[in-house]
Amino acid sequence: MSFTKQEIDHWKQQYPLLKDITNLNPVIWLNPKKKRMEEIDSLPISKKDMEEAAQLWERFAPYLAKEFPDTTETKGIVESDLRKVQSAKEGLNQRYGTQIEGSLYLKCDHDLPIAGSIKARGGVYEVLQHAEQLALNAGMITKEDNYEKFSSDAFKDFFHNYSIGVGSTGNLALSIGIIGAKLGFHVSVYMSADAKQWKKDLLRSKGATVHEFEGDFSEAITAGREQTKQNPDAYFVDDEDSKHLFLGYSVAAFRLQQQLKEQQIQVDEEHPLFLYLPCGVGGSPGGIAFGVKMLFGDHVHCFFVEPTHSPSVLIGLMTGLKEKVSVQDFGIDNLTEGDGLAVGRPSSFASSISEKLISGIYTLEDPDLFKLLTLLADTEKVFVEPSATAGLLGPGNVMKSTYLEENNLQEEQATHIVWTTGGALVPQEEMKDFYNKGKKLWSEG
Ligand SMILES: *Cc1c(COP(=O)(O)O)cnc(C)c1O
Repeated sequence: MSFTKQEIDHWKQQYPLLKDITNLNPVIWLNPKKKRMEEIDSLPISKKDMEEAAQLWERFAPYLAKEFPDTTETKGIVESDLRKVQSAKEGLNQRYGTQIEGSLYLKCDHDLPIAGSIKARGGVYEVLQHAEQLALNAGMITKEDNYEKFSSDAFKDFFHNYSIGVGSTGNLALSIGIIGAKLGFHVSVYMSADAKQWKKDLLRSKGATVHEFEGDFSEAITAGREQTKQNPDAYFVDDEDSKHLFLGYSVAAFRLQQQLKEQQIQVDEEHPLFLYLPCGVGGSPGGIAFGVKMLFGDHVHCFFVEPTHSPSVLIGLMTGLKEKVSVQDFGIDNLTEGDGLAVGRPSSFASSISEKLISGIYTLEDPDLFKLLTLLADTEKVFVEPSATAGLLGPGNVMKSTYLEENNLQEEQATHIVWTTGGALVPQEEMKDFYNKGKKLWSEG
């Protein structure tokens, strides 16, 4: 679908911030539709769904511990560290001229086992729930069994009769390809042609079939969805409209709650919690925001981050058009080096929920992704992929806005959590190039 010039002009008049957005200037948007938790009467999913998702993860833990050595230590629980980063905070204050006083933490999903990105939550979860459903329907398992059974040849042979398709710019494909192939499924991945070569190579080495498409991610998804549908034994993981991905992500909130408790980090009226979440279609930041809102209510404040060239969720939520609008409709090219963030159209499922829960969205320019990558590496020896750094500008951006004042919040007692969403599988050579690129940008001032 596309819009007439008149319609576009009308929205630009109605939402003046669109001018800056279409001029590709970094902006911060505060969500006027955010509701207090007590005002929210219905959402398409509940805390109970989230609890059930957590239970599914637990059922599969023995299987994951057995098949993925990087989860043995945590007994098959796929989780990342919550890490205080004092030096990065000082680095940010120095380099970006901010005055962050609250505590700064990284939620280290760049280091998640199995897939090395936040997709190890959503993508792995969706494949596990599909595999469980097939096995239950076939009478091969009950929910009380030990799921180590999924490692057996009988299960692999069984799943070999089924296919999974996914359209992806990279990280989602990696997660689906790795867990899908391990279980025994045929996995077909539909990627845009500009997806990174090493990701295609890695997928092929895991046994997935990679189909490449000219044009952007949305076209790859459309093609993948259509081709997958033609096969009755195939299942399509639909990034543009997936409840399962969303639920898989949401479980992070329980784990975060536990980590905050262990590290004695208070969250209440006087101690607000801020989350900064890199955003593509809006599924991972939406699922996590939903989860933490269920657990911490109005004391948690979630901000999404998008590249200035791919502000799809920003435009979708601001205009209320959600998945009906793409950045291309507003003449924005959707070209960014932030893998996973180069998304032109928001997820419909996630947007309808995020619309009520999130505090706002800010955008940042691509060079900052590399500068932040280098800053984080220099100050903390933490190496993440460019998109995963986007949250680091969050505290400064929120402090520059009217948000704290409008909501009567004290920054000095705040906890800022920057969600670092990917990086562990990036080849060293590639990471070195990213680092050097950031270094060069800093030296140019
Ligand atoms: C996928 C991805 C995101 C965003 O997740 P969405 O569900 O698409 O919003 C952010 N960072 C990285 C590294 C990703 O791979």
